[in-house]
Amino acid sequence: MEAIVRNEKIKLPDRIIGHIKGINPGATVVFFGGIHGNEPAGIKALEQVFAQLKSWNIKMNGTLYGFRGNVKALELEKRFLESDLNRIWQRHHITSILRRDKEFLRPDEQELLHIYNSLSKILLAEQPPYYFLDLHTTSSHSKPFITISDAMINRKFATLFNVPIVLGLEEYLQGTLLNYINERGYVSLGFEAGQHQDESAVQNCVEFIWKTLLHTELISRKDFEIFQNFKHNFNECSKPCFYEVTQRFKIEDHDNFSMKKGFLNFSKIQKGEHLASYNQTDVISKKRSILFMPLYQKQGNDGFFIIRRIPMLALKISAFLRQFKLYQLLILFPGISWTNKEKETLMVNKKIARFYIKSIFHLMGYRKYFMSNTYFFMSNREKRAKNHLYKKCKWY
Ligand SMILES: [Zn+2]
Repeated sequence: MEAIVRNEKIKLPDRIIGHIKGINPGATVVFFGGIHGNEPAGIKALEQVFAQLKSWNIKMNGTLYGFRGNVKALELEKRFLESDLNRIWQRHHITSILRRDKEFLRPDEQELLHIYNSLSKILLAEQPPYYFLDLHTTSSHSKPFITISDAMINRKFATLFNVPIVLGLEEYLQGTLLNYINERGYVSLGFEAGQHQDESAVQNCVEFIWKTLLHTELISRKDFEIFQNFKHNFNECSKPCFYEVTQRFKIEDHDNFSMKKGFLNFSKIQKGEHLASYNQTDVISKKRSILFMPLYQKQGNDGFFIIRRIPMLALKISAFLRQFKLYQLLILFPGISWTNKEKETLMVNKKIARFYIKSIFHLMGYRKYFMSNTYFFMSNREKRAKNHLYKKCKWY
């Protein structure tokens, strides 16, 4: 994405929902809606906000973009056509897409290429700091929440919204758009606004977009107050609460999976509780925990996740460890070494790794991204984070 803009002639309709160049310099803020074609709430919300900005004659700083995600899937109201557009942003896959002739690209890959080129052009033409926000909805009923890759800049920015923040999804879901952007070091948040068809999901997105415009200083607090007169107020927690994904129930396309009816996102579940049926067997909860994103739609490979609340003390300790770069000390332990001289990723011997607690790596900012027969490979979000771009921001 750095500076490669492939000369592609694929014509996709109406990618851009809106684009505003402000009167003064400022941040570049990029929203996506409908990366999943069955999730139109984010698009409806972006359309509303662009219309509001115009009709209330709001003078903006910086630059704002709103993009449609999977345009072809949105037209067909399907999650994706052949492959999930939010699971194919791996580096090797992108390289392969860039190399191939366009007639050999599958429909969702064409969408990726188009978005990739748009992003490359934005990073070449527009000014930092950059913010990337991806608007989604879930198949289960849910209060709004944010998902992030666990870099401190994402954490700090995400806490401005006072909704639950879920870390660690990237360890289970490879190839998401935000993960790809995050690896380039920019602030990137996923906002999950509620259930796909729930009208409040649109209003939650509208509120999230306005708050983002305020926190990125694209609009003044006075202009934000114009919106506040209309605001709907999403279900906020009194202070930021963080959760970590601990388990994923993965399903394959040919599997027969059905979630037991009635679970909400963030439902507390008991040991021994019947959760789902999977290829004619019952899926039973092994312990008391919190259910996350139970699947109530046909397409998708994640039956459900299990999450746990992260204590505030653990968050404070991890902020301290990262501030003083103490994660570098990990290589003093047996079975752990750097993969290259840039010291970006760790190799952890699997035989020895079972003696370490996964949380220690997470506290230090490491997440598993690849596994060979002998090693886990772990990358550190802090090493890649472009903190210097955000140092002058009010929230930093
Ligand atoms: Zn989605």
